[in-house]
Amino acid sequence: MSPRHAARLDKLQPYLFAQLEQKIADKRDAGIDVISLGIGDPDMPTPDAVVESLRAAVQRPDTHQYPSNRGRHVLRDAIASFYDGRFGVRLDPDTQVLPVLGGKEGIFHICQVLLDPGDVALGTDPGYPVYTSGPLLTDAEPYLLPITPENDFKPDLGSIPADVLSRARLLFLNYPNNPTGAVIEEGDSFFADVVEFAKANDIVVVHDNAYSEIGFDGYRAPSFLATPGAMDVGVEMFSLSKAWNMTGWRVGACVGNTEVVSAFWKYKTNVDSGMFDAVQAAAATALTDCRDFPLEMSAIYSRRRDLVIEMLRAIGLEPNSPKGSIYVWARVPEGHDSASFTQLLLDEANVVVSPGSSFGSAGEGFVRISLSTPDDRLREAIERIEQSMRVGAA
Ligand SMILES: *Cc1c(COP(=O)(O)O)cnc(C)c1O
Repeated sequence: MSPRHAARLDKLQPYLFAQLEQKIADKRDAGIDVISLGIGDPDMPTPDAVVESLRAAVQRPDTHQYPSNRGRHVLRDAIASFYDGRFGVRLDPDTQVLPVLGGKEGIFHICQVLLDPGDVALGTDPGYPVYTSGPLLTDAEPYLLPITPENDFKPDLGSIPADVLSRARLLFLNYPNNPTGAVIEEGDSFFADVVEFAKANDIVVVHDNAYSEIGFDGYRAPSFLATPGAMDVGVEMFSLSKAWNMTGWRVGACVGNTEVVSAFWKYKTNVDSGMFDAVQAAAATALTDCRDFPLEMSAIYSRRRDLVIEMLRAIGLEPNSPKGSIYVWARVPEGHDSASFTQLLLDEANVVVSPGSSFGSAGEGFVRISLSTPDDRLREAIERIEQSMRVGAA
C-alpha cells in the first residue's frame, strides 16, 4: 500500500517555476552558463536600515515568543500611515490591517475565507498561478477572463456567463500586472467599473498590489482602495517583497474592508501563529524610513527595461514598454509559439525566459522577461540573444 494524497492535489498544474528551475538545473549540470530571466525575484539587497532594524529587534528576547496574529501596533500603524501618505487611503490600523506572511500566503488563504465548495473565483488569464490554485484547493472553481492587448489587458466583466456570475464570490485583479506589465493609468475608469460590478453582483474584490511601488517614467500606481466605494467591496494584498527587495522575509498585509479583514483574522488564528516580531519591526522600518527606496529601485529597473526593449527591437520584435512591474511582456516572432521561442532562446543563447502560455492560455504567443537580474548578467544575456538571433544574421 502506498500513502494516498487528497484528490484535489491532482487538479494542480506543476508550479511554473519548478519546471523552469529543472530546465536551468539540467543545463548547469552539463556545465553550461545559463542566465535566467525567468523568475521575478529582486537581485539587489534589502535596505541597510531594514537589516539593522531586524538585527536590533532580534537581540531583544521579547521578540522571541509567539507573535500575535493581529500583528504588532508598530507594523499596523506603519502600514496605515504608508497607505495614507502614498495613496491617500485612510485605514484603521485596528480593524482594516492584517499582516500576512507574504502576498502569496494571503492570496491563497483568502480563498479559504471567502469561498465554499462550488463557488467561483474570477481571475485573469494570463495571471499569477495562485488565483487558480487557491480556489482549486478550496474545492471552488476558478474562472479566468482573458487579458490581451485587444482589451488593453483589462478583463471584460460583461463577458461572464450568467450561470458563472451567479456563483462568483471573489474577483482577483493585479495592477501593475504580473506577467503583462499593464497598469491603471490616471483617468482610467476601470477600477470604478470594478466597484460597480462587485456591488451589483455581491463579489469581493481582492486586488493583488505586489507592484505598486515599481513605476517608470514618473508613473505611480494607484491603490484600488483609493477608488470611491472600494473599501465596501474589497481588500488589497500589499507586499514588501518586490519594492524593498524582501522576497525572503515573507511580509505583506491584507488591508481594506473591515468584515473581510476580520474574517481573515479569525481564520488565521487557526492556521499560523503570526509573523516573527523582529520581522514586523524591520518591515515597519521599511515603510517608515525607507519610503524612497522603491524609487531608487524603479530607476534601476527602468534602465534595465530600456536595455531589454532595445534588444528585443534589434531582433525584430515590437514589445510594449511597461510603466510598472519588473517584467517585459513581449510577443514572440512570427512562426513561433511561447514554448518554441523559449526553447530557441535556451538552445541558442542559454538564456531562460518564461513562456507566456505558462501563465494561462491567453498568454500563448508571448514570453515574459524578468528585470530582476544584475546589470552585467542582463547585458550578457542580451548580447547572447542579439548575436544568435540578430535579424538578417546568417
Ligand atoms: C511576487 C508576487 C506576489 C507576492 O509575493 P510575496 O513574496 O508572497 O509577497 C503576489 N502577486 C504577484 C502577482 C506577484 O508577482
